[in-house]
Amino acid sequence: MSTNNETTFQQIIAHAKEYGFVFQSSEIYDGLSAVYDYGPFGCELKKNIRDYWWKSMTQLHENIVGIDAAIFMHPTTWKASGHVDNFSDPMIDNKDSKKRYRVDHLIEGFVDTLNAKGENQKGEELIAAMEQLLAKDDFAGLKELIYEHKMSCSVSGTCNWTDIRQFNLMFKTEFGAVASDNPDDNIVYLRPETAQGIFVNFLNVQKTARMKIPFGIAQTGKAFRNEIVARQFIFRMREFEQMEMQFFVRPGTEGEWYKVWKEERLNWHKSLGIPAEKYRYHDHVKLAHYAKEACDIEFEFPIGFKEVEGIHSRSDFDLTQHQLYSKKKQNYYDADIDPATGKPYGNYIPYVIETSIGLDRMFLLVLCSAYKEETIAKEDGSTDSRVVLNIPAKLAPNKLAIFPLTKKDGLPEIAEKLMSECKPLFRCFYEEKDAIGKRYRRQDAIGTPFCVTIDHQTIEDGTVTVRHRDTMTQERIPMDKVKELVLNAIV
Ligand code: ATP
Repeated sequence: MSTNNETTFQQIIAHAKEYGFVFQSSEIYDGLSAVYDYGPFGCELKKNIRDYWWKSMTQLHENIVGIDAAIFMHPTTWKASGHVDNFSDPMIDNKDSKKRYRVDHLIEGFVDTLNAKGENQKGEELIAAMEQLLAKDDFAGLKELIYEHKMSCSVSGTCNWTDIRQFNLMFKTEFGAVASDNPDDNIVYLRPETAQGIFVNFLNVQKTARMKIPFGIAQTGKAFRNEIVARQFIFRMREFEQMEMQFFVRPGTEGEWYKVWKEERLNWHKSLGIPAEKYRYHDHVKLAHYAKEACDIEFEFPIGFKEVEGIHSRSDFDLTQHQLYSKKKQNYYDADIDPATGKPYGNYIPYVIETSIGLDRMFLLVLCSAYKEETIAKEDGSTDSRVVLNIPAKLAPNKLAIFPLTKKDGLPEIAEKLMSECKPLFRCFYEEKDAIGKRYRRQDAIGTPFCVTIDHQTIEDGTVTVRHRDTMTQERIPMDKVKELVLNAIV
């Protein structure tokens, strides 16, 4: 990461705190590593992103329905899903500093330093070599790669490394108050992904909502991972939120559905007006234990191109495993006629395409792409500056700010009338204090797309000044058109 980008990233983090978007969790006790709280504007933005995803998945696709499963699940779920045995990352410890690294992060960090020196080709070759070794679980080969390139610990500066070991990322806790001789009897996990809540409910949902394949089940909710290298603000958290959709298809059609969802999901991102060149696909070489095909949608954060969403072709792995462990059939009867045989397709365990996006990562994406420091040329030849968040209007925490020019002459009464007309429909903000310019700047900093000023001319002709956040242009429109203007921009 170049120093410039590092500065921008630090400025975004500082801005997020100063303007009530994101706080470190339990800050008064010096915080809890990789756990964050969302403030008044942050929780609105987060909710709006969640709602935008939910609407696009469930309301705009008649064949996708939602559920809201519990965080705790029967522990056998995680045996069946493979998480107890396989949900781990290869780690390496520096013997001098005792600092633990995820192997891929250590190598990627080293590649960042190569890129900063302009040695991009060497960096690409190193990443390719790493991916091949990870795909084969070749830990000796990975350790050799680390030594060969003299990758050192950022704390001790030495290359004195332990062997590489696997580290499980699931949090465990105890369930219920019953003492047992075997402590394992009471163990439950905090779910590391929301997907399994969907799989174990597959037949409940299919039957009660009378769904026919192909169909999907969507869910948003908290997930927990004991990430070893938890850094980079809300990019990698120990408690985070996912928005996942599992799409159940007829075996043999998974290849085409994978392509469909790969494209659909990128289109969803583009629908927010974020420049397409900021996105790219990254096809996986090392596949997760369940995957047939997988790719990430990556976004160019100030810290480089990073995963924001995964699209995975999960075969019939999960349902087959749950059938095996629960001894309950997970079959679907497909009455459609197979043209090859002239008979119904009959019973089968569906294949699954998954789309999985981190809500907090999407939040960070929106914040990073919205954050701008601008210099403004003034009429008298001098310059001014502002920090503005060009958050898509649909997602902005406040949609409209309403300002009476002064606190007297009946202007607040008119402003309050507009406020009560608009606030049932979208979030509005009312303010009488300070000069108008100052009020505009505060709204720019939290990304409010429209500000309206009520002045003395409003009393005469019923018009108001609308000020547009991105262009800073102002126009006079009838007050009774304000509601429509905002609704057109956010629906
Ligand atoms: P990574 O390689 O970054 O650890 P992953 O490939 O393990 O991510 P998935 O299991 O595919 O991630 O999870 C789907 C999505 O959930 C990711 O694309 C990401 O947006 C989000 N996500 C995963 N882990 C975290 C985390 N620790 N903090 C925030 N978001 C996360």
